[in-house]
Amino acid sequence: MPRFTSPEHSPKRPGGQHTPRKRFGQHFLRDRNILDKLVRAAEIQPSDTVLEIGPGRGDLTRALSETGAQVVAVEVDRDLAARLPEELSAPNVKILQGDILSQSPEAWLAEAQCRPPYLVAANLPYYITSAILRYLLEAPTPPTRLVVMVQREVAQQMTAQPPHSNLLAVSVQFYGAPRVVEVVPAGAFYPPPKVDSAIVHIQTHSAQPAIAPQLFFQVARAGFGTKRKQLRNALANGLHLSREEAERLLARAQVDPARRAETLNLAEWAQLARGFEQSRLP
Ligand code: SAH
Repeated sequence: MPRFTSPEHSPKRPGGQHTPRKRFGQHFLRDRNILDKLVRAAEIQPSDTVLEIGPGRGDLTRALSETGAQVVAVEVDRDLAARLPEELSAPNVKILQGDILSQSPEAWLAEAQCRPPYLVAANLPYYITSAILRYLLEAPTPPTRLVVMVQREVAQQMTAQPPHSNLLAVSVQFYGAPRVVEVVPAGAFYPPPKVDSAIVHIQTHSAQPAIAPQLFFQVARAGFGTKRKQLRNALANGLHLSREEAERLLARAQVDPARRAETLNLAEWAQLARGFEQSRLP
């Protein structure tokens, strides 16, 4: 009896190419120029350790390995992970199989006999971009920098500045300084995604944050959290304060209570978070 299998279940055509799997967000980067740009933007030294997320068919991995750095690449797709080592038989490349989010970056590095400091270079799977960014930026030992391919719109959001800020911008900029390196057309990928992409460079702050992240984000999320535009209403609602308490908090941080969350800079959010912490002390 012949068995019918969908391409999804038979990704290895005989002797041929892997069929891209949608559910893993597989869009392979074909353009050598763009691969090189991403690698150049990462300014990799031979003494560096690079964590790559989703090596896919290994084109970026190869370009990374040519810098001489140690490359640790984590791929969730078992078929791809199984064929990568033969395609990339470089002594400075280690391929690991699994979901990147399943353990800390340090644990992945340790599996490859590496350890921090490290940087991240990747053409990210877009369906979990924000989860991966959060996982990396909040890690006990975050990467010194990230050079990642993301959707163009996400790149614009993360690099937005007041008065057009947003929660993603505040979240990323709390941990690092993001900039767009290059916008990349959808046609540079196979299969092309529905939207354009962009390479983003995020230099992470080396100093510990001056305020506890949990507190900072509690206040920022409250500020951006509702359709209420004015901060006095958004904070009252999101932090369960009376309108008077919210206004007092804003006054102490010297923020006009009629302003909108999009207009605040990082220092102002930190001031508000500090004030909120103090207002809760006995
Ligand atoms: N870096 C390759 C492929 C990018 S596509 C290139 O530039 O051509 C995104 C890759 O991430 C795919 O190979 C996909 O299988 C992988 N991936 C998706 N989810 C993942 C996860 N949770 N952990 C690790 N890799 C993942």
